[in-house]
Amino acid sequence: MDAPRLCLDREACTTSGHCRSRLPDHLGTGTDGATALVHAEISPRELAAVRDVVLECPSGALRIDGDPLYDFPNVGP
Ligand code: SF4
Repeated sequence: MDAPRLCLDREACTTSGHCRSRLPDHLGTGTDGATALVHAEISPRELAAVRDVVLECPSGALRIDGDPLYDFPNVGP
């Protein structure tokens, strides 16, 4: 299974900067001054902290693709 990846929707981001100080290995400041993704891949050791920051983003601009916590198989009729 591929490692989970942090994703940033720059259109939705309000550049509050809350996340950059919490996840400096993943998020930084772009040349335009806005929040920028600098490293997407999330190690197992980092995952809980990244989830916290994603949930606390006030604009919903952050998400984790491939988070095993939410990777349920399709079950249905
Ligand atoms: S916490 Fe959310 S809104 Fe604030 S800078 Fe980070 S991604 Fe943008």
